[in-house]
Amino acid sequence: MKNEKAEAPAGLIARGAERGADRVGERGSEAPRRATARRTREHAVRGIPISPGIAIGPVYDTNEIPAEAPRRAILPGQVEAERQRLADAVALSRKQLGKLKARLGILPEEAQEELAPLLDAYILMLGNSRLLRGARRRIEAELLAAETAVGDEAEAIAAQILAAKDDDRAGLRRRADEVREIAKRLTRNLTATPFRSLKEVPEGAILVAEELTPADAALLDPARIAGVATEEGGADGHTAIMLRALGIPSVLGCVGLTETAQRGDQAVLDGSAGTIVLRPGEAALEKGRESLTAFARERAKLAKLRRLPAVTTDGEPVELQANLEIPAELPLIAQAGAQGIGLLRTEFLFMNREDLPDEEAQTQAYAEVLEAMGSDPVTIRVLDWGGEKDMEALSQGIAPTHAGPNPALGLRGLRLLLKRPELLEAQFAAILRVADRGNVRILLPLVTNPSEVKEARDIYEKVAKRLKRKGVHVPEKLPELGVMIETPGAALAADAIALEADFFAIGTNDLAMYTLAVDRAEAEVSHLYDPLHPAVLRLMQFATEAALRLRMPVSVCGEMAGNPRLVPLLLGLGIRSLSMNASAIPRVKQAVRALDIGDCARFARRVMEQSDPQRIHELVMEFGAGAEKG
Ligand code: PEP
Ligand code: MG
Repeated sequence: MKNEKAEAPAGLIARGAERGADRVGERGSEAPRRATARRTREHAVRGIPISPGIAIGPVYDTNEIPAEAPRRAILPGQVEAERQRLADAVALSRKQLGKLKARLGILPEEAQEELAPLLDAYILMLGNSRLLRGARRRIEAELLAAETAVGDEAEAIAAQILAAKDDDRAGLRRRADEVREIAKRLTRNLTATPFRSLKEVPEGAILVAEELTPADAALLDPARIAGVATEEGGADGHTAIMLRALGIPSVLGCVGLTETAQRGDQAVLDGSAGTIVLRPGEAALEKGRESLTAFARERAKLAKLRRLPAVTTDGEPVELQANLEIPAELPLIAQAGAQGIGLLRTEFLFMNREDLPDEEAQTQAYAEVLEAMGSDPVTIRVLDWGGEKDMEALSQGIAPTHAGPNPALGLRGLRLLLKRPELLEAQFAAILRVADRGNVRILLPLVTNPSEVKEARDIYEKVAKRLKRKGVHVPEKLPELGVMIETPGAALAADAIALEADFFAIGTNDLAMYTLAVDRAEAEVSHLYDPLHPAVLRLMQFATEAALRLRMPVSVCGEMAGNPRLVPLLLGLGIRSLSMNASAIPRVKQAVRALDIGDCARFARRVMEQSDPQRIHELVMEFGAGAEKG
C-alpha cells in the first residue's frame, strides 16, 4: 500500500520524454526543438483551485530519494519468503505502471507517443522476463535477498547489452538503462523507499510534483514554501485539506505540469484561479504582483472581522469552528477567531512514524490541544484510517496489509477500530484522561449502521469504568459521543443512528464521494465530484432534519463549510454550526453577517425543488456571490 503512492511517475515522465526526444532526434525530427521551445516559452497550466493565495517564485520539482539496498544474503529457510517479497514487489510495480499508463490519454499526443512504448517495455519486463527469472534463480541458488538478486541480475543483463557489437551505441545504452530503471523501481518497492525528500525545498520555492500524499503535505513548512502544484489530486482529498490548513497557495490536478516545468523556472501560481504560469513574461508577472498585493489587502480587511460575532442580520448566531489536522495550526485557529475546534482529525498522531502512539503519547497530545483551546469546545475524532490516508505506523501489522479490491469500501474508519478495539480503547482512554481539562466531545468516523455506534459506545463506557477503577478522574457525565454522517447509508438511516448518537457532524467530503461514486482525490474524475449535486443535498437535508427533530446538535465539517458562497444554502437547510479550515473563517463570517435566516430558508427551498445539478450551481453561485461580498 504504502509505496504504491511513493513511486516516481514524475521522474519517469520527465526522463521518458527526454529520452523519447533523443530517439526522435536521431531520426532527424523537429521534436527536440519543439520540446525545448515548450520549456523556454511562457506556459500556463490550469488545475483545480485548492488553497487561495498567490505565489511567485522558482519551481522546485521533487527528487527521488535513492533506494538504499545494501547487499544481503539469506538463509535457506528464507528462500520462499524472499520469492514472495519479490512477487509482491512485481505486483505493486505492475500496478504503478498500469496506473501511469491509464493516465497517458490526457497528455499531449507527442508525449503519449514517447511514453507509451517505454511503459510497455517496463511492463513486459515485469512478466516472465529474463530479469525476473534470473532474480528468482539468484535468490534460490545464491541465497541472496530479493533486492540484491534483482540488482545483480539487472547489472548482468545491462553489461551484456552494452557489450553487444552494434553501431547503435545510443540504442544499446537506452536498453541497458531501461533494465536498470525497472530494477530500481523493484528495489524501491522492495525497500519501501519513499520517492522524495521535501527537506531541501529552498525557501520561497513553488513545489511541483506528480503527486503529494497527505503525509508528505503534513511535512511542508508554510513559512518556507511559497506554493504547491501537482498533477494528481482532487479538490477535497486529504492532501488538499492539509494544504488549505497550512495556508499554502496550491493548485492540484495540473495535467502535463511535470512534463513542462523545470527546476529553477520562474512561476506565478494563483491558488484561487487554479493556474500556474511557468516562465511568465513581463505582463503575466506584473499581473501576479498585482494579485499578490490585492490578496494581502483582502486578508488585512478580513482580519478586522476577528472580534465581531458570527450573527445573521436578524440576530441568529452561527457557530464557526475550525478543523485541525496538525498541532502547528493551533496559532492559526486563534488568529482566525474560531469558536473552538469542530473536527480534530487525529490521523496526524499516526503519520510519518513507524510505531503506534501509545495511550500516554496520545494523552499528552490531546492535553496540549485542550489547554491551548481553554474553555472553547474541541471535538476529537477517533482515528479515521483508510483510503488515501496512508500511514506507515498502521501498516505495521495493525491495518490490513491487503487493502482489498475497493479500499474505500473496506476496513476503514470505525470499522477498523471495531476490528482492532485496542486502538479505539487507547484513544478513548487518552481522551477521557484529559476530559476535565477542557470542553471535549468525541466523534466516530465512517459509520453506516446504528449497531456500530452501540458497539463503540459499549467500548467507551467499559474504558471509562476501567479508568475509574484505576483511580483516574473521569467526568461523571462522559463527554458526548457523536457520529460523522459521511455515507449515504448513514444519511438515510440518520433517524435510527440519531437514537444512538449525541450529535451529528456531516462530512460532506466523503458523503459526496460515496453518493456519487467519485473518488474525492482523483484528478481525472474531479469534474464529477460535486457536493452540490441534488443527491448529496437531499441526503444532507434528510440527516439534518432527523437531528433537528430530536433537537440534537448537527454541524457540517466537510470542505463545503468553508465556502462562503454555500453559506446561505447551509443556513437555509437548518445548519447553525460550521467547521472549516481556519483560514476560511473570516470570509465565512463575513457572509453570515450579511444574511437573513428567512431569506436563506426560502432560498434553500427553491434549491431543493431543483434536480438539475447545473441549475443548482447557477442558483447557489448567484445567491452566494452576494453573501460572499458581505
Ligand atoms: C468528510 O468526509 O467530510 C470529513 C470531514 O472527513 P475527512 O475529510 O477527514 O474524511
Ligand atoms: Mg470523511
